Amino acid sequence: MTKGKPRASLRTVRAEGTHREIGIKIGRECKDIARRIDRRMKAYARDCYGRSPAEELARARKVLPASRRFAPGFVEELEGYAEGSGLDFDSVFASVCDPEWEMKGCTDIAVNERWTRDDCVFAAHNEDVEPHNYTDIVLARVFPDDEPGYIGMNYGGIMPTVAMNAAGISMTGNALEPNDVRLGIPKMVVVREILRAEGLHDALKLSMPPGRGHSFNNIVCDSNGEIYSMEGSATTFDALYAEDGHLVHTNHYVSPRMWRFESDMHTRFSSIMRYNRAKKLLKRELGEVTVATFKRILSDHVGHPESICRHPDPRLAEPERTRTIFSSVFDLTNKVAWVCYGNPCEGMYEKHEL
Ligand SMILES: [Zn+2]
Repeated sequence: MTKGKPRASLRTVRAEGTHREIGIKIGRECKDIARRIDRRMKAYARDCYGRSPAEELARARKVLPASRRFAPGFVEELEGYAEGSGLDFDSVFASVCDPEWEMKGCTDIAVNERWTRDDCVFAAHNEDVEPHNYTDIVLARVFPDDEPGYIGMNYGGIMPTVAMNAAGISMTGNALEPNDVRLGIPKMVVVREILRAEGLHDALKLSMPPGRGHSFNNIVCDSNGEIYSMEGSATTFDALYAEDGHLVHTNHYVSPRMWRFESDMHTRFSSIMRYNRAKKLLKRELGEVTVATFKRILSDHVGHPESICRHPDPRLAEPERTRTIFSSVFDLTNKVAWVCYGNPCEGMYEKHEL
């Protein structure tokens, strides 16, 4: 639909059956990525927190019982993944708990049928993370026996960061840095659980479980055009509803109720700029929004390199750099995912059915 060539092909995986069978299949197919993520989790614990691998694994084990109660199916998927990839389960679970996921940036836009050319509901997203994550993301189709199936962009094939399920629920969102972080259910577990929802009520409830240790801003939409930005911290949240049928979110708290949970507003300039810029660009196209609208907005370079389409800033040390590793648009009405692997200014969006 757009000019340009993808520079590398996006890996895909498909798995169905019990949660354990799903985990085993994905673990086998994504063994190489699982090992890379494991090595990095251990290096990050050492370099940033001075924790040994044993200490990091012990820390993760503390939140396993609560995670298992909240997300029994996902924990079984992780057990299967450990078996399939040949890693031990404690290491796999510690990767899910990895504080490095706190570094995610991202820009999100959701628009409902009121403003789109073909009456579709869209949830769009740029995934902004450390550049090395580019080779760790996999397009996954997951069909558990006992839940709606989903299509998502999964780290290591197993940890969804954005996805849409067969019940017409999408989960997208972005990182926040709340100041009330505690030991609790990891936010990567929470986002996976949203996808087992059969409807909006359950999706919203699953997006903010009591006892969580942290939170993304979880954007939850359904095919009826209901759009929520669940601005969470570890201990509370505000549910921002798209009253006018469209919404933008980046990486700072928008709700006045949540301002006091912001760790350090002085680190949010890219977020503030992307938020305002995306809102302005979207406003111009309201009523005529199509997938091409998101390509235009999500490729925007105002404020480069910390723009909506983010590129590594050579002035920063390597661990501080951020890049858009993929851009996605879920069409909840037609249950289709459009994914551009790499920066959207350079690539094309390809269509993937659920
Ligand atoms: Zn770009």
